[in-house]
Amino acid sequence: MSRRQSYLVIAVLFLAVGCVAATQLPGIKTVTLSTVTVHLVPEGDPTLTPPVAGMANTDNEIWVRVFVQGGKIIIKKGWVLGHELTHLLSWTDSEIQNPDTEAF
Ligand SMILES: [Zn+2]
Repeated sequence: MSRRQSYLVIAVLFLAVGCVAATQLPGIKTVTLSTVTVHLVPEGDPTLTPPVAGMANTDNEIWVRVFVQGGKIIIKKGWVLGHELTHLLSWTDSEIQNPDTEAF
């Protein structure tokens, strides 16, 4: 076997191991949270001092920064809300990865 073929075999083996390691859920998993309270924090409020964009606690409370435009409250960075919600899910069900320690 040539060196090139050896590398190809090794690459295929790593791919196969990676596919096995990243398994899928066998079906839909449902996690129910008790009441979630979202605190909408205006820009400049010292509750969230940059670079902190959001926070959550184990009482199912989330704080996110917002601004007002055209009479509507806009959640400044929607992904922050998702990140903090993932914390609540992770604290409720330990099968769910802590978003601060994601493997990828
Ligand atoms: Zn976090």
